[in-house]
Amino acid sequence: MIKFLRSKFFAHIIGKRCQVCSRVLEGVHYGIMLCSDCADQLVPRTGGYCAMCARVYALDDESTHLCLDCRLKPVLWDGIAFHSVYQGLLRDMIIRYKFNADLGLGNVLGSLLYEAASNHHYEYLDWIIPVPLHDIRLQSRGFNQSLELSRILGKKTKLPVLKDVLVKVRHTPPQSSMGKKSRLKSLKGVFQVRTDIVKNSRIILVDDIMTTGSTLKECSKVLLEAGVAEIRVAILSRAV
Ligand SMILES: [Zn+2]
Ligand SMILES: [Zn+2]
Repeated sequence: MIKFLRSKFFAHIIGKRCQVCSRVLEGVHYGIMLCSDCADQLVPRTGGYCAMCARVYALDDESTHLCLDCRLKPVLWDGIAFHSVYQGLLRDMIIRYKFNADLGLGNVLGSLLYEAASNHHYEYLDWIIPVPLHDIRLQSRGFNQSLELSRILGKKTKLPVLKDVLVKVRHTPPQSSMGKKSRLKSLKGVFQVRTDIVKNSRIILVDDIMTTGSTLKECSKVLLEAGVAEIRVAILSRAV
């Protein structure tokens, strides 16, 4: 406690601190307090990835294309915004946030998502919908990271967030422990849309990390079945 108060006191008299590494700083990056070292490691990707599934295919390419998988079997959504690959500082931050409950990072991660989404012109959309957690996972983690990211994105884009409309009705084992086929199979029927409020609406579907895309695919399927007219996916990070 004394250590905490002392760091607060020094932060107050010395100046603001980087919200990621706590270094004292003076500048502000995209509405968040970031030192230049952290800002350099958190530059959003602007090209070299698939415009639908965010698969990174050329590290030095500035443009976006459709990958072969998306050309052969189009995804169910109409576009994707993502910040960058799940590695380095971004990966560390997501782990600290999700698994070590370093909740102060939520605002930084939400702002990074907004930064990634900012050139996607979401003004005409109706709702933001987070990928839900099952109650069991929610109780053990204490919060749904996708909902928290959605809230920040909602505040910045001025779009309303629909909570508890898309729900997860069955608990599933962690997706990271399965292959692509078993993931899709294990997710069949686990998501439901609770009301018809989404009918004919255009939405942003938010998640923190996309790995194989099985979760986003299954969520999109039930949203389209419920009458959603357009889905734009926004994720913070793509695991490769
Ligand atoms: Zn820093
Ligand atoms: Zn693709």
